[in-house]
Amino acid sequence: MEEFEEFDDFRDKQSTIGEDGSRVWVYSKKPKGKLYNYRKITSFVLLAVLFAIPFIKVHGDPLLLFNVLERKFIIFGVMFYPQDFHLFVLSMIAFIVFVVLFTVIFGRIFCGWICPQTVFMEFLYRPIEYWIEGNNSQQRKLDQSALDFNKIWRKGLKHSIFYLISFVSAHFFLAYITGIDYVIEIISDGPSTHWTGFIGILLFSAVHYFVFAKLREQVCIIICPYGRLQGVLLDRNSIVISYDYKRGEPRGKYNPLENRESNGKGDCVECGSCQAVCPTGIDIRNGTQLECINCTACIDACDTVMERVHKPKGLIRYASERSIADKTKLKFNVRILFYSVVLSGLLILITFLFSIRTDIESTILRQKGTMFQEYDSLHYSNIYMIQVINKTRNTMQVDLELDKPDGVIQIIGGPLVVKKGEVGEAQFLVLIKKSDLKSSNTEVEFKVLSAGKEMDEIESTFVGPNGLDNAHKKSERDHGEGR
Ligand code: SF4
Ligand code: SF4
Repeated sequence: MEEFEEFDDFRDKQSTIGEDGSRVWVYSKKPKGKLYNYRKITSFVLLAVLFAIPFIKVHGDPLLLFNVLERKFIIFGVMFYPQDFHLFVLSMIAFIVFVVLFTVIFGRIFCGWICPQTVFMEFLYRPIEYWIEGNNSQQRKLDQSALDFNKIWRKGLKHSIFYLISFVSAHFFLAYITGIDYVIEIISDGPSTHWTGFIGILLFSAVHYFVFAKLREQVCIIICPYGRLQGVLLDRNSIVISYDYKRGEPRGKYNPLENRESNGKGDCVECGSCQAVCPTGIDIRNGTQLECINCTACIDACDTVMERVHKPKGLIRYASERSIADKTKLKFNVRILFYSVVLSGLLILITFLFSIRTDIESTILRQKGTMFQEYDSLHYSNIYMIQVINKTRNTMQVDLELDKPDGVIQIIGGPLVVKKGEVGEAQFLVLIKKSDLKSSNTEVEFKVLSAGKEMDEIESTFVGPNGLDNAHKKSERDHGEGR
């Protein structure tokens, strides 16, 4: 695009880094418009859900819990333990593929509408800033002004409210790790009896405050790994926030008396509104950039301008680079259909993986270093060890049945009772009639039961005396000769 070479200098600099390497603070104008209103509603719903979830319990346990310290996870009421790690890994792989495919088709839609960084920044912290410090130019002026009473009270109030929100949010984030009951305990008992939890809250608060009061758009531009991946995930067909350069160029100032078409001018009136509202300080007219979080603020700003200059809306809109270059409308094509089918398949796979997860995990091993015992004149016995992980929400009594061959099971020390989320172990004897043993190594099959319901089936071996194999062969031979 030779005709646009004059705008290429944006590639040599970063919008938030000055010539001397210092941070350029972004004073973005408050967005207004249809998409901003939709995003506001979405954000309030998401914030309400985020703060309500820790209070929602399923059978006395949190709906969501990510206790990395004790390696205990509850996802939508279903408990996961370290033994479910394979499920976790498979789900993560499916999830990553899902994210990649979703981004290839829909770009960074997640960043603009759902990402907590955007939701907190644009719909909680920034509105408070507008309320206390005024609009973007008033904020700039305040920052440049000398330290006087006006600056002290405005900055003081703003940062106090910012810290308060961070402090409250930290309680909720901790609730996602430890459960809300522990957080309520910290609040009611005071920090003196819960130092670890209290320090955790202070750390969370400090990080939260630092991210939203100081780091802000730098999280999206420099830190967020998802943002960094955009360069490899997006292609010409990805749906992103795009400036229609075919329609907008050559840009030129608006003059109500001028006929732009006959003067060869495009629809962009160079008002700068799209850049003024951009929270990452970029100019979307330079094309898709890593800094763009697809927040739609520039769409709203440009649509307002287009209305004013009596031009069709959508000079900046959701579109793929190809649809703009070819001047075609965005269509639901085979590629999108194919990716959508793959995405649906992955979602089904994840659901399936979760649905086949068993309530218990059990292992049965013959006691190490033991051989058979002659239990009485009729039976041989072997000693085994059973280990059961109870993944349900209730204490369960585990019973055992010998499915094959006939025999008797005696659990040593009474029935095996395992509390919810715990691992239970017991030793037990298996008695098999001497006459039923045909070999020194007999296959045995156990059924693990709870409340009469079969939970698992496990195979093992029963050891008998060495001579059994020969005796059995001889008896078979004798039997054959006798016939
Ligand atoms: S808001 Fe629209 S018209 Fe104004 S500079 Fe941006 S693209 Fe051009
Ligand atoms: S370019 Fe537009 S969509 Fe991208 S971050 Fe800036 S305002 Fe948001």
